[in-house]
Amino acid sequence: MQHDPENTEIPEIPEITVITPTAKLATQTHGGRAKCLQRLVRLDLPVPQTVALSFDEVHAIAAGEMPDLQALLAPFGEDALLCVRPSSEDPDWGGPGAVLNIGINDARYVDLCEQLGREAATSIYLRFVQAYAIHVARLDPDMFDHILPDGPDALSEALRAYEDETEEAFPQDPAVQLSEVLRSMARAWEGTTARLLRQAKGAPADAGLGLVVQEMAHGLGLGECGSGVIQLVNSKTGAPQITGRYLSQSQGRDALLDRSASMYLETDDRGPSLQAQSPELFEQLLEHTRLMRRRLREEMQAEFTVENGRVHILDGVRVARTARAAVRIAVSLAEDGIIPREEALTRIDPRSMNELLHRQVAPDAARDTLATGIAASPGAATGRIVFSADEAQASAARGEACVLVRRETSPEDIRGMHAAAAVLTERGGMTSHAAVIARGIGLPCVVGASDIKFHIREKRLVAPDGRELQAGDMVTIDGSNGEVLWGEPLMLEAAQDDAFRQLMTWADAVRDIGVRANADTPADAQTAKNFAAEGIGLCRTEHMFFEADRLTVMREMIFADTSPDRAAALERLLPMQRADFIELFRIMQGLPVCIRLFDPPLHEFLPSDRAGHRELAEALDLPLSDVTRRVEALSEYNPMLGMRGVRLGITVPEIYDMQARAIFEATIEASEEGDPVVPEIMIPLVSAKREVELVKTRVDAVAAAVRNEKGQDFDYRLGVMVETPRAALKAGEIAPHTAFLSFGTNDLTQMTYGLSRDDAGRFMSAYVQQGVFPEDPFHDLDTEGVGELLEIGAKRGRDARPDLVLSICGEHGGSPESIAFSRAAGFNYVSCSPFRVPVARLAAAQFAVLETVGVRKI
Ligand code: PEP
Ligand code: MG
Repeated sequence: MQHDPENTEIPEIPEITVITPTAKLATQTHGGRAKCLQRLVRLDLPVPQTVALSFDEVHAIAAGEMPDLQALLAPFGEDALLCVRPSSEDPDWGGPGAVLNIGINDARYVDLCEQLGREAATSIYLRFVQAYAIHVARLDPDMFDHILPDGPDALSEALRAYEDETEEAFPQDPAVQLSEVLRSMARAWEGTTARLLRQAKGAPADAGLGLVVQEMAHGLGLGECGSGVIQLVNSKTGAPQITGRYLSQSQGRDALLDRSASMYLETDDRGPSLQAQSPELFEQLLEHTRLMRRRLREEMQAEFTVENGRVHILDGVRVARTARAAVRIAVSLAEDGIIPREEALTRIDPRSMNELLHRQVAPDAARDTLATGIAASPGAATGRIVFSADEAQASAARGEACVLVRRETSPEDIRGMHAAAAVLTERGGMTSHAAVIARGIGLPCVVGASDIKFHIREKRLVAPDGRELQAGDMVTIDGSNGEVLWGEPLMLEAAQDDAFRQLMTWADAVRDIGVRANADTPADAQTAKNFAAEGIGLCRTEHMFFEADRLTVMREMIFADTSPDRAAALERLLPMQRADFIELFRIMQGLPVCIRLFDPPLHEFLPSDRAGHRELAEALDLPLSDVTRRVEALSEYNPMLGMRGVRLGITVPEIYDMQARAIFEATIEASEEGDPVVPEIMIPLVSAKREVELVKTRVDAVAAAVRNEKGQDFDYRLGVMVETPRAALKAGEIAPHTAFLSFGTNDLTQMTYGLSRDDAGRFMSAYVQQGVFPEDPFHDLDTEGVGELLEIGAKRGRDARPDLVLSICGEHGGSPESIAFSRAAGFNYVSCSPFRVPVARLAAAQFAVLETVGVRKI
């Protein structure tokens, strides 16, 4: 359980602790189960006598030092049978399975036959012999296969089988049985496999195990006997629903294992129920579970036993839940006044919001994994493989879902990506083209799947295990964990219900850093608005030029030999750009919109193969050789470090002039019809103050011209994108010329590491596995190195201009770590892809809550 205020002090720990309301027990020393049982005892719930062994004690047991067994057995009655269960600090870290019915032997068996009847006594003894043989004596579970559990000689056969295998009689002394069970459970926890498994779930290497020894309440015997589990909500949705099963004459969690024999709890059309059969028992259980919810401040699952008509609560665990259910549970606990709203906010892992925002492969679906790449954009989708953007569009036109498979994507593939249900690429990393676009439009995407052999021309893929996939084969892309799956597993739909919206409203009320979205198209902007982004922090304008009609004009502009020819082509692009901006301004209804001037190298707009060159020659009415020569002349060795961004703006200034004019004209038009617009214009890839001065002079001139022509005034803010290390270092010089600095952490990471964002996927996993990088720095902001540059840039910029607005607009913007970093560094807002906006809003709220309220006091 979370935030246990009683766990702040670590008490002195006795060897053996009887769980009483005042016993010194803590989750950190005895584990969550022991602590929870103490809380149930404090609530006066009917919990059988229980003793807790601390982590230290269990560690000593594993090393061969047994506690005083007589002292351990003393709190229990003479004839009691016992069970032992694991109690790790976090129940998710697992632990050895429970062992029931310790203490049964031939003599007690005879007594139990009298007390409970032969059938019940036999079942109790048989269960223990089998558990002991498998978990303690480590015998092969198959050895009992030939024994019919309900057969008349089952018990004697099992005891004989045990003796045959071990060449020893089955131990009869309860103290010996108990010490052997304790030893085997303690050792199982220390084994390598168990350690690796729990470390994979986030447990520290030295995580401890506590054990609880509890008196058995027999679910077998005379009168109404049985066992079951109950919870008050549906684990998938979090909606109120009395859920669980009860099985007469059973122990442990048998009711869940044998669902055909067990009954429902609440009256149910599907079959018999405990409510109908024993209404008082049902009411008692309900009351106990409701009390647990209220006082433990959590939705709990109770494990119970009915013994001759009396209810015992054996255990309480936090209800297992999907992300969707977690939100609903937290919200309803807060709405019922059980926890404060602030605590509800801290109970949700912001990253788990992805499960609510996108379709997912159902958690219990069978997965046939073909390969794993980089999980570049969350969510999952199934479709038939296509190998080109054209085929993706054709497939969408036929109404068939498809998965677009490319070596890597380029701007020419954008329309195909929009048409596809998911994207898979061989190359690329977290900030490669495919990844950025896919996240922007909420498309599941796996990149850098280089374990698969991509034969794009032959239209086939070969998975690492040799399986071959062809165009038309059905695959599923799980962009949440990077897996490529064969076929069509069961899916879980996205669900943004009322609880989600409520939680988000609470988050916004406490959040103290802004969240904007990176949005390039009206559709992106609408998504951003729907997710309550507070504006657009980055509109990458180049993405607007890839529509077929614009691409041709763009190419004409690129091929123009003289400035007037170029201006003529841009003149045709102007109304299109103006219309783009008017639509963005309209959608954002007066919220800030930050438009980045043209950034990529021009050759990205030209076709790369011969057929494309020929088509272009035809369209532009030029000889093929002219086209080929021109394309070659534009190609660069390192285009990402070449003529792009502001460098293009300075050498071909007509492009920025046209964009500035389109922005200002759109500002006037949109402001006439709706809320006043104050556009933000951002200059990419700056590395020197003079670049800013030059662009600013021209943009100011365009503004003056538009004001004059239209007879209308307007404001605008000019800013600089800091994505070269030099811009960060020289922020003090740049800041006086700019209203804001927005850190483009994609390029800044690339340039700080000298690591290509498009090629890093090839060796990133080897680097992370060998601990060179703790994580992919394109995925998790490198707060040390790149972060230092951000801090230097922010400080020098603010020193020079105290009202400077600071933000992050790289792909890191939405991640909780970068939000924590940005808050601490005094940034005004983060900007991230639209679908990450809710994640960012929640994460930002959590940091604010933890800072102001503090986790302990919640
Ligand atoms: C960046 O470099 O961080 C950025 C946001 O720009 P782009 O990804 O378009 O290069
Ligand atoms: Mg960039």
